[in-house]
Amino acid sequence: RLATSIRNLTKEYVLKSETVRALRGVSFDVPEGDYVAIMGPSGSGKSTLLNLLGCLDKPTSGSLMLGDDDIASMTDDQLADIRSQRIGFVFQSYNLIQQLSVLENIQVPLYYQGRLGPKERERAVALATEVGLKDRLGHRPSQLSGGQQQRVAIARSLINDPFFVLADEATGNLDSVTTDEILAIFDRLNSEGRTIIMVTHEDDVAMRAKRIVRLKDGLLHTDEVVTEQERNE
Ligand code: ADP
Ligand code: ADP
Repeated sequence: RLATSIRNLTKEYVLKSETVRALRGVSFDVPEGDYVAIMGPSGSGKSTLLNLLGCLDKPTSGSLMLGDDDIASMTDDQLADIRSQRIGFVFQSYNLIQQLSVLENIQVPLYYQGRLGPKERERAVALATEVGLKDRLGHRPSQLSGGQQQRVAIARSLINDPFFVLADEATGNLDSVTTDEILAIFDRLNSEGRTIIMVTHEDDVAMRAKRIVRLKDGLLHTDEVVTEQERNE
């Protein structure tokens, strides 16, 4: 788990005769153990940046280094491996498999690697316990509340001990009490040394991070530390 380094990152989409410049030269670092919120108005490039960080897409130019690996120079197969083994995804809509139990959902990223033994099961149980779902291991997603489903997704995101957890509007479907519970889990994970990058449009959610990066028109607009005082307000 090393630093993520973004240098002069650009992304252009070509639509028929038109080129959309979604990112126009963005640079910043995410050191190990950081907790960054990415904000910005609609169309500012948040989703594009998230897709690049998640290795779902490649930059047009510039570099995105995950440790020593430059995403821009990788094959699609290598990107798929990094996605499934090095990055933890948490989505607004949980994206759980309805037919599988909590324990099985947490282990889903391991299926793709054919790694499923007693050790992996033990790790999944430990993660379920860490997010407060120890007594729900056999439940299906439909038997859980939204907050509990998001806890499953968080445990799943950690199963491969990822480089960072990438959370996309992770609390967008949750009420404020449940949002606080999920953010408390992120706080704890971060204090244990986990790197978290989240995209949110909610100020009070972003304030729980250590740092807020704001995009505007495909550029980095501001990059500010959230003070301890602001965090606790
Ligand atoms: P945000 O997530 O901040 O709303 P996006 O990254 O989705 O911003 O979009 C940035 C710009 O790129 C917008 O102008 C958007 O219309 C455009 N865009 C995003 N994705 C695509 C795409 N797949 N094809 C073409 N244009 C896109
Ligand atoms: P969000 O910002 O909520 O993540 P999206 O990424 O879906 O939303 O879309 C953001 C903007 O990018 C929208 O304006 C959308 O029209 C545009 N966009 C997304 N995908 C495409 C695409 N394939 N072609 C053109 N525009 C796109």
